[in-house]
Amino acid sequence: MQTQAQDKYDVIIIGGGPAGYTAALYCARAELKTLLIEKLAPGGQMGTTARVENYPGFIEGVSGFELAMSMKRQAERFAAQTRDGQVVSVELEGKEKTVCLADGSQLHARAVILAMGASPRELGLPGEKELRGRGVSYCATCDGAFFRGKTVVVVGGGDTAAASVLFLSHLCQKVILIHRRDTLRASASYRKPLAECGNVEYCWDSQVQSILYDQKVTGVEVKDVQTGEAKTIGCDGVFVMVGYTPNTDLVQGKVPLDSQGYVAAGEDTQTGIAGVFAAGDLRAKPLRQIVTAVSDGAVAAQMAEKYLDLEQLG
Ligand code: NAP
Repeated sequence: MQTQAQDKYDVIIIGGGPAGYTAALYCARAELKTLLIEKLAPGGQMGTTARVENYPGFIEGVSGFELAMSMKRQAERFAAQTRDGQVVSVELEGKEKTVCLADGSQLHARAVILAMGASPRELGLPGEKELRGRGVSYCATCDGAFFRGKTVVVVGGGDTAAASVLFLSHLCQKVILIHRRDTLRASASYRKPLAECGNVEYCWDSQVQSILYDQKVTGVEVKDVQTGEAKTIGCDGVFVMVGYTPNTDLVQGKVPLDSQGYVAAGEDTQTGIAGVFAAGDLRAKPLRQIVTAVSDGAVAAQMAEKYLDLEQLG
């Protein structure tokens, strides 16, 4: 197949979260011909976050979707191109990289920035997949409104679980947090607002054993990990908030990954494959936040620019 000039780029960025859009902004400002490919709506996880309160510069916080749209428009203002599409395979070796989309397009670039982020982890319970959209959810801001006035459980004890409990407590009659330990992993800043919620109950030291359902979710069965005692909690919805897994299937066997599947790239975002960089939540790192994602995006763009300069010379 002959490659058309319009299908050739200096840099292709895969993923339209904060890391990807920042990389696009920096690459485009460096006058690199840049294409960002995003699978769904802009913003990735950030795009489905109701209120972002810890991204500097927004005194009252900002809607994640608004922030995502601003990042997209800012990158496009500097002539970064963006395209919806699902990347199904990549060839990353050699000087010309190839990115293939589900619609059959083949795109080429001299450098690739991987910014596919991470996706919510499942509990792995029978029926969980089938009940998605029928009472099981992985995104409180996306699905919370379906449970207005109802009772829901949130499973997990991290920042996502805590933020989701707060969000849902404004919509639902009752929110029950089920956590496998007796202390939250979530940051201390959630303690006071959680304590002030009158409609939140806690089920500590408990693991969900099964999701009960008829046509829709009717409850969960939980086991006390200390006593082994089992009990049933009636609810209309189950929000699973037990962390994330990196979206690195696409590059398995193509770039080095760590034992948990994150791209084993350091702060310089280099993957060990010449011309291929990793930015954002899919990279092995201690803190996954919007600020660290945008930081990665800037570094990856800078590294790509340097790589392309050297490649041109040599
Ligand atoms: P996380 O910090 O990894 O927490 C996952 C929680 O789920 C932990 O409490 C963990 O329990 C529990 N868990 C894991 N596997 C489980 C299982 N199989 N069954 C039951 N419980 C299980 O994930 P996260 O809360 O999604 O946060 C991910 C990253 O995003 C973090 O870096 C977080 O700081 C960041 N984040 C930040 C904000 C914010 O700044 N506002 C908001 C959301 C997320 P243990 O505690 O026992 O391990």
